[in-house]
Amino acid sequence: MTKQECLTKFQGTRRKETVVTAIWFICFFGILFCNLPLAKWMETHMNGTWIYTLYQAALLVFFFGNFIVIFWISKRLPHWRGIVCPLCSRPFGRRTVRGNGNCMHCGAYVFDEPLEKAPS
Ligand SMILES: [Zn+2]
Repeated sequence: MTKQECLTKFQGTRRKETVVTAIWFICFFGILFCNLPLAKWMETHMNGTWIYTLYQAALLVFFFGNFIVIFWISKRLPHWRGIVCPLCSRPFGRRTVRGNGNCMHCGAYVFDEPLEKAPS
């Protein structure tokens, strides 16, 4: 991978993250706010029944499941985009690309071509 390919992948990842975050934000809070009337109805009419308990459990699974999925996606996204060190397979950051081209974790040089020297 060249430095330019890596920068292009970073830009593509940022665009994808922005779109996915916006969709998630709308869906998550839309479901939560649309759920408010149902929650109020369930609390007044179904309180103490197994349906109410199941409803609360489903709400908890939805709430915490979202954060688990987001955490998992944020960890996997660099691997899906190929923005990982070829040696240690850990994602490298923008500083690797803009700096000396060495992995932040293992120190290996990550580009196929040598870095051009900055004009002095
Ligand atoms: Zn590495």
